[in-house]
Amino acid sequence: MGIELDSTTVARLRDHVTGKVYLRGDEGLAAEITCFNPAIRHDPDIVVAVASEDDVVEAVSFARSAGLPVRVQATGHGAEAPIIGGMILSTKGLDGLSIDPETRMARIGAGVRWAPVIVAAAEHGLAPITGSSTSVGAVGYTLGGGIGPMARTYGFTSDWVRGFRVVTADGRIVTADEGTNRDLFWALRGGKGGLAVVTEMSLELVALRSLYGGSVFFEGGAIEPALRAWIDWSAELPDEATTSVAILTVPDIDGPPPPLRGRTVLSVRFAYPGETAEGERLFEPIRAAAPVYLDFVAEMPATAVASINNDPEEGGPTWIRGFMLDTFDQDAGDVILELGGPGSGAPFLSVEIRQIGGATARDTADGTAVGGRDSGYTLTLLAADPSTFAEAAPARAGAIADALRVRISAITNVNFAGDLADRAAFERVWPPAIEKRLEVARTHWDPDRVFAFGPS
Ligand SMILES: Cc1cc2nc3c(=O)[nH]c(=O)nc-3n(C[C@H](O)[C@H](O)[C@H](O)COP(=O)(O)OP(=O)(O)OC[C@H]3O[C@@H](n4cnc5c(N)ncnc54)[C@H](O)[C@@H]3O)c2cc1C
Repeated sequence: MGIELDSTTVARLRDHVTGKVYLRGDEGLAAEITCFNPAIRHDPDIVVAVASEDDVVEAVSFARSAGLPVRVQATGHGAEAPIIGGMILSTKGLDGLSIDPETRMARIGAGVRWAPVIVAAAEHGLAPITGSSTSVGAVGYTLGGGIGPMARTYGFTSDWVRGFRVVTADGRIVTADEGTNRDLFWALRGGKGGLAVVTEMSLELVALRSLYGGSVFFEGGAIEPALRAWIDWSAELPDEATTSVAILTVPDIDGPPPPLRGRTVLSVRFAYPGETAEGERLFEPIRAAAPVYLDFVAEMPATAVASINNDPEEGGPTWIRGFMLDTFDQDAGDVILELGGPGSGAPFLSVEIRQIGGATARDTADGTAVGGRDSGYTLTLLAADPSTFAEAAPARAGAIADALRVRISAITNVNFAGDLADRAAFERVWPPAIEKRLEVARTHWDPDRVFAFGPS
């Protein structure tokens, strides 16, 4: 089902773009828009796999005339619900990437993932401030702010953006930076969607060749004392270090590393982009908290940043709920152990708590639209067994949220919120003052709501 697109105008679009145009049923369409979570299958009327900025202009102009809502997809890591009807503008082909070591700037095309940016920057002793997974798209990630393994030291990734090139809803190519279209520049740093199609992002890099970091694992009876030690220790950690924990219930299947297979473990992650000796000293209380099962915290090249959290590189069916927490104390630890810990019967593959604060709490001088700066922690519940998605996972997540109610922040950053088609979730992703200003920017830049975003 779907709308009947005029074959003459589709033929004209095909003539005008250098990328590919797929209609429903065309071979190659499904592969172009595969999601990280394969449980989500989009069914758009048309997909334009753009190969240039001019293609984006053509695609947006076509959609606008045909009255089709446009949604942008790069890697599909952010897909939360199936997209039915309308246009998907696939940016994979916008793969331009260049580094200027003099100015420490990276120009990153909309289809580029973090991994190649890390490799290209490292040739000059530089590093981008990335997220935990380097297969995530750099632009899509950064539009939501971006909270990574070094967040407390360097802040949100969007704090490092120095400019965007975009195609607007009326088909113009414009730039947004501190001197041009400042409202759009503000909005794109955290405001995520409903504004424009970003074709390129200019990101300032940091001088970083190596850091002290990685993860240690605790299992069995060591999990509780290690988590309790982490809670007190992380509360005193200086801003120069970032840490997170995850209770991982690893299935006994091929794929996960053999020492983790079939076990429940606590992974404590750490990143200190400073002297190794000081990193070792800071991390020592965690090593001393309980017998360590596996220890992968050491001096590491900045290019190995993805090994800190060890997110899966391959996608799979997932159910995710995210929250932000104002505080995480021993009482919150009780809740996590009782409802998400070993032996709790929780249906989650991962219960992850990231400590933020430090630089994430400090906005840039010119301000950004990032939501969640006032929170102290993120909490992400992830289930991977589809038989739990309808009832067991939501019910247990609800019980955890109820038990943590007094600590749950009013705001959950858009990259961590889960399903934005859910109005209640969508309304919590920006503080009211930012939401109001974003609405003004969206109305100015996309008055006819060409770029579909949020609940319909
Ligand atoms: C394994 C994994 C690890 C993650 N780790 C982190 C993390 O450490 N920190 C964090 O903050 N987030 C993290 N995320 C969340 C991630 O940042 C978001 O899902 C992000 O939206 C992914 O962007 P993408 O471009 O890869 O995905 P896509 O699904 O391709 O895009 C997601 C959305 O981004 C927007 N978008 C993408 N490109 C453009 C563009 N060119 N112009 C306009 N809008 C665009 C659209 O709204 C689109 O729907 C993680 C997600 C996964 C799956």
